[in-house]
Amino acid sequence: MNQMLQFSNVHMYYDHVYALKGVSLTVNEGETVALIGANGAGKSSILRAITGLNRIRQGEIHYLGERLDGTPADEIVRRGIAMVPEGRRVFPLMTVAENLALGAFTRTDKGEIAESLDRVMTRFPRLKERYNQAAGTMSGGEQQMLVIGRALMSRPKLLLLDEPSLGVAPKLVQDIARSIVAINRDEKVSVLLVEQNSRMALRISQRAYALSTGEVALSGDSADLIHDDRVKTLYLGGE
Ligand code: ATP
Repeated sequence: MNQMLQFSNVHMYYDHVYALKGVSLTVNEGETVALIGANGAGKSSILRAITGLNRIRQGEIHYLGERLDGTPADEIVRRGIAMVPEGRRVFPLMTVAENLALGAFTRTDKGEIAESLDRVMTRFPRLKERYNQAAGTMSGGEQQMLVIGRALMSRPKLLLLDEPSLGVAPKLVQDIARSIVAINRDEKVSVLLVEQNSRMALRISQRAYALSTGEVALSGDSADLIHDDRVKTLYLGGE
């Protein structure tokens, strides 16, 4: 399998808070990889390191064979990495259509952009129904579909998802989980998924890393981890 993204001994700080303490991990082409762990374990920090929102202090990040850390944020998007941040940050006063158009800011070919828009509409028919509606008036789950759709408009090779199930009604969590599987399988987009909902994350990923206070505590195939007693106790509520 070809390596797509690789962290080698990555350290990151927020002022004096030591958030990542030597993290090494890999996402291979075509994979969905989950990052699980408690609040504050460092999951979002890994995504912030990839997107260049925070500089790493030590270590290296490689993406498709090239150094990624130190690359400007817009160049990171151009290289095929799209981020869906936590908290469904739609532009509430703009329409669904306008929100989606913003996702294509790095692209110029109108025909290709229209093609991507068609795919997003097919993937999320709800967005088509609400196309001219202000994004802020949609439900939490619909807004989550919109931010995922917006990320897909940049035609990513690697999609980073930060807590897509957070604050979404349980019924819609299933829909979002299915969409992630379909995006990975049909559009050949690799996915790095941060989730508090560890059970869902382990079900839809091939491999996973469990983070604990800025370090990788456990890693392996998701199908094995879901039955691992330590994972059950620490991350699946002891079930
Ligand atoms: P959550 O699910 O709560 O977002 P997480 O696993 O994603 O948790 P991070 O957000 O990566 O955890 O946080 C890792 C550590 O860095 C925590 O101790 C957190 O308090 C700290 N931290 C995160 N963002 C900042 C910031 N902007 N300034 C200072 N400390 C921060």
